[in-house]
Amino acid sequence: MWTADEIAKLCYERFHELPRRGKPEPGREWTLLAAVVKLTQHVNTGKVEKEVVSLGTGTKCIGHTAMSSNGDVLNDSHAEVIARRGCIRYLTQELNRAVCGQHSLVFCQADQQGKWRLQPGVSFLFFTSHTPCGDASIIPMTNSQSQPCPPVRPVKPPEGTDEGIDRGGNLKRKAKEPSDGRNIKLPRLEEQETEEKKPKNRGDTKQPESSTSNTDESEDPPQSDVAETPAESPQVPDVHRTGAKCVPGGPADLLHPGAGYHSAGALRVKPGRGEPTLSLSCSDKLARWGVLGFQGALLSHYLRDALYFGAVVVGKCPYSREVMRRAVVTRCSHVSDLPAGFLLCPPALLQSGLEFPCSQAQTELQHQAGQGRISPCGAAISWCNVTEQPLDVTANGYKHGVTKKALGTAKARSLLCKVELFHSFLSLVSATDPSLLPNSLRGKELHSYWDYKQASQSYQQAWQQLRDQAFPLWPRSDRGLLLFH
Ligand SMILES: [Zn+2]
Repeated sequence: MWTADEIAKLCYERFHELPRRGKPEPGREWTLLAAVVKLTQHVNTGKVEKEVVSLGTGTKCIGHTAMSSNGDVLNDSHAEVIARRGCIRYLTQELNRAVCGQHSLVFCQADQQGKWRLQPGVSFLFFTSHTPCGDASIIPMTNSQSQPCPPVRPVKPPEGTDEGIDRGGNLKRKAKEPSDGRNIKLPRLEEQETEEKKPKNRGDTKQPESSTSNTDESEDPPQSDVAETPAESPQVPDVHRTGAKCVPGGPADLLHPGAGYHSAGALRVKPGRGEPTLSLSCSDKLARWGVLGFQGALLSHYLRDALYFGAVVVGKCPYSREVMRRAVVTRCSHVSDLPAGFLLCPPALLQSGLEFPCSQAQTELQHQAGQGRISPCGAAISWCNVTEQPLDVTANGYKHGVTKKALGTAKARSLLCKVELFHSFLSLVSATDPSLLPNSLRGKELHSYWDYKQASQSYQQAWQQLRDQAFPLWPRSDRGLLLFH
């Protein structure tokens, strides 16, 4: 089989093999990594072959005013989203092979008109070097090592500053309040050290779950029933924070000191450069992929069943499996009445003990005086296992290094942007022999990206159920931004 460490190692190695372009400057810049790994279990031997089919890095997200109605900008460049979009490119190529009668290692013909299914033994898992932003990041803090932010103060952070484009609210707050944060952080750490010298199990305080390992078993389990009484004393002194804000119209964060800072379970939007974005947090997107699949509306035309990640593996970082489960599984686990082809199949949640060498923590360790302030890397790298142009490096939603003059032209587009993914889908449709065309694409006048997405009926029905039953506050996409073709 495979272990979480093997998966992490494989993904870090794949990243290491990529060219320098778009990679963080060692010791000064950091980034986040995510990947989709294909697993192939061989029928006879039982042996599992692992292959990274898509990899993404990135920490940024553009604000709503920078969005384009031509579908030519990448709105969300968090590593998870880049990895998933690269995977769509990969799946489109494999479907292309399949419809052209070439052998695909991923798909084989299903028993329905124009539909395909995974080859026997093939499955996918998702790797991320870090806990996804949003709900999964609201983790109880347990020790000073994993305490990257200053103590919580009951004030609303100022809005509209240009910080917070990174995934974690932790760094964002630190960056926002440089002197302030430093001054108040010190006593906090001292206080924590004193805490740690006290006997570990004081009877009246339940030890919060470890935030750095995935073991459920505490070495000192609570000794008495008293320990289970929540009213005795606060169970967690503080939580890690996320920079993602609750979506409008629902419960807001209470911003109370300590563990009461955030509302748990809420949908959140990513912070952008000085303005709110319309991109949901990675926790929310993973939860959505857990119900609708990660193939998206377009490829659903061709697939009998939605594609789900069998596991989500997180690299070494602050992590809580309990919180992760709430964020990506439990929030949707009651959803019912899904159309055929969709099912709730919760991924296994695992953590590796191996840290990404370009993580924020590793960068801080390698940082040397005179190198300048540590910051998240501005570029996003996508690599996926396709024959044409597997590498796609972007910054601010466009191809990395394009001139201002070229912005808005096809040359400046990322291969992962909506219009490019749409065009590769249209190539798949034209490569499909009319007799093999899925029913949902037959006899219809479809023109725009919006039309093709709406025509994916089962997917839209599943989305409606998910929205009604679990995420009524999920912002509706602006149709005006999706009418390109
Ligand atoms: Zn994210």
